[in-house]
Amino acid sequence: MKKLRKITKTAADLFYPRRCPVCFDIVKPMGELICPECAGKLVPVKNPVCKKCGKMVNHERTEYCLDCAGRERTFEYNLAVFEYNDQASSSMSAIKYKNKREYLDFYREAAWYRFGKRLAVMNPDVIVPVPIHPARRRERGFNQAAILAFGLSEYLKIPVCEKALIRWKKTAPQKELSPIERLRNLRQAFEPGILPPGAKKILLIDDIYTTGSTLEACAQILKIMGARQIYTLTLFIGRGA
Ligand SMILES: [Zn+2]
Ligand SMILES: [Zn+2]
Repeated sequence: MKKLRKITKTAADLFYPRRCPVCFDIVKPMGELICPECAGKLVPVKNPVCKKCGKMVNHERTEYCLDCAGRERTFEYNLAVFEYNDQASSSMSAIKYKNKREYLDFYREAAWYRFGKRLAVMNPDVIVPVPIHPARRRERGFNQAAILAFGLSEYLKIPVCEKALIRWKKTAPQKELSPIERLRNLRQAFEPGILPPGAKKILLIDDIYTTGSTLEACAQILKIMGARQIYTLTLFIGRGA
C-alpha cells in the first residue's frame, strides 16, 4: 500500500513537480516532500521541553518555561514539531500568502512522524482546527490549521469538527498588547460553535504557537462548551527561556 502511494505520488510529481517548503525549488529526488539538505534547516523541537507549551528549555530540571510558569493554561499541554526559525517563517508566509498549500503535505507528514504514536495513545474524541476569519479564508482559499487537522484525522481515524469554534472578528496585530490584553482581544474574536455530542477530549490544531494566547482563548471557550481535556498541537513554536 505504502509502495503504491509512493508510485502514485511520483506519477503526480511528473506532471506537477513538487516544490520544497524551504528553498521553494523543485524537490530532488522526485517523490520526496523536501530536499534532503533543506530538511536540516528546519529544527525539530527536542527534549527537554516545557511541560505546558512544549517549547525547548535549557535544562532537564526546568519544568515550565518563563511564559508558562506564571500563567494559567486551560489546555493540558502543547505538542510542537519545529522551532519557529527564519526558514519556518518564510515557509509559513509562502503557504499563507502565496497559496503554497502543498507545503502542508510535508508538515503533516513531519507532525505524524514526530507525534503519531502519542496522538494515537491520546485518542481524542475530535480534532478541532483553530479557525481563521471567513473573509481571510475566502481570500486565501483555505485554513492551514484545518488542512493539517484533516491530514491527521485520516491517519488517526478521528473526526474533525470545523464548526466547534467560530471566528467572527479579525484580530489586529497584537505585538503591542500585554498578555492579558491579548487574551481578552482573542476571547472576543471567537465564539462557541457546535461540538459533536460526547466530545470531551479535544485535540486543538494551529500552525504557530507564539504566546499561546490564541490556543488559550480557544481552550477556554471549548471548556465552557463542555470539553474536559484539551490538548494542542502546533507545527511551530518559538525558542523558550
Ligand atoms: Zn529545498
Ligand atoms: Zn511553556
